[in-house]
Amino acid sequence: MCRAPDFTTQQAKPTEAVAKAAPAPSDDDAASARKTVEALPPSHADAARRTTVWDSTMGLTATLILWPLILSVPLVLQHTYRDVFDEAWYDYSEGPKPLGLCLGLLAVAVGQVFVLCYQYLRWTGSKYTGRLVPVQPNEYRVYDYAEAAQEHLSQPEGFALIGGYLTLTWMLHLMPSSYYSFEGGVEWIKVAACLLLQDLLQYGMHRAEHKVSKAFYRASHEPHHDFTNPRLFDAFNGSFADTFFMIVLPLFTTKSIVHCNVWSYMAFGTLYANWLCLIHSETHHPWDWLFQAVGMGTAADHHVHHKLFSYNYGHLFSYWDRVCGTYRHPKNVRQFRSNNKAPTRWKPHARTKVE
Ligand SMILES: [Zn+2]
Ligand SMILES: [Zn+2]
Repeated sequence: MCRAPDFTTQQAKPTEAVAKAAPAPSDDDAASARKTVEALPPSHADAARRTTVWDSTMGLTATLILWPLILSVPLVLQHTYRDVFDEAWYDYSEGPKPLGLCLGLLAVAVGQVFVLCYQYLRWTGSKYTGRLVPVQPNEYRVYDYAEAAQEHLSQPEGFALIGGYLTLTWMLHLMPSSYYSFEGGVEWIKVAACLLLQDLLQYGMHRAEHKVSKAFYRASHEPHHDFTNPRLFDAFNGSFADTFFMIVLPLFTTKSIVHCNVWSYMAFGTLYANWLCLIHSETHHPWDWLFQAVGMGTAADHHVHHKLFSYNYGHLFSYWDRVCGTYRHPKNVRQFRSNNKAPTRWKPHARTKVE
């Protein structure tokens, strides 16, 4: 069982900062604020200080280590698979073999292990992954890491449904033949094409879930919007219908349009699944400033959607939102600017409204 670390030593500065910035509180207010600050996670407790050279260096290092690790299975095996596996295992002449499917699932699982390790370090308040800055400075969430990770990994509407889709389409030979080929390494242009097309289709389905009808929204996407201040573990927390319409249908269409080999499919799969998790993080990532600059999805961009509902329908990129006029920059969202008061504990909504 993982328990939240003791943040006592990190609380002095923000407590003082809050006390200086806020109007003179009553005894009750002060007691309540003290109680709040006592439970703050490291990201909020550390919010008052400036970014140092150490933070920037560690953030850059974490970025340069994490993303290749997310891609580690296709990167390592694309040139070595002949030495590792018997040729009969990847010979396509007699139909689909399970090796490509198993490696694809392994690629996502290994990427997920590294993402969970990275997020665990941040949850504990580690300085080795860059400075911790909350996406929503006025609210905080405290949770047990092991429980949250266990719930995340066992959600049937998440990895299980997607894994089932991948297994069926692979073994029933529903993928274009190029996907069964082990020839050539990762084709990065095709990986980018898959990510862009998948995000475009997901944008359309996501917007449809919000706008087609209240009944459709409630039956599909509403459970995911219980989280107006999401954590990384809320990425696949929704419903079967939500995962089917927003992930599985776009995946089926994407593979029918972009024909790539097994290594590219693997790279696309692990980037897609793990990036979807990372944009739900409650803290900014060290690479977010760069992603923001080139229109790639960040945690702040996606938190805008969870907070305001009718902006930022895209997940991996903000291009489709910008083209369709639904993009809202996090800097322009009032709730994402500090109100100089002690942050309050986030409360789950009974049910959110359609906007
Ligand atoms: Zn979300
Ligand atoms: Zn939504």
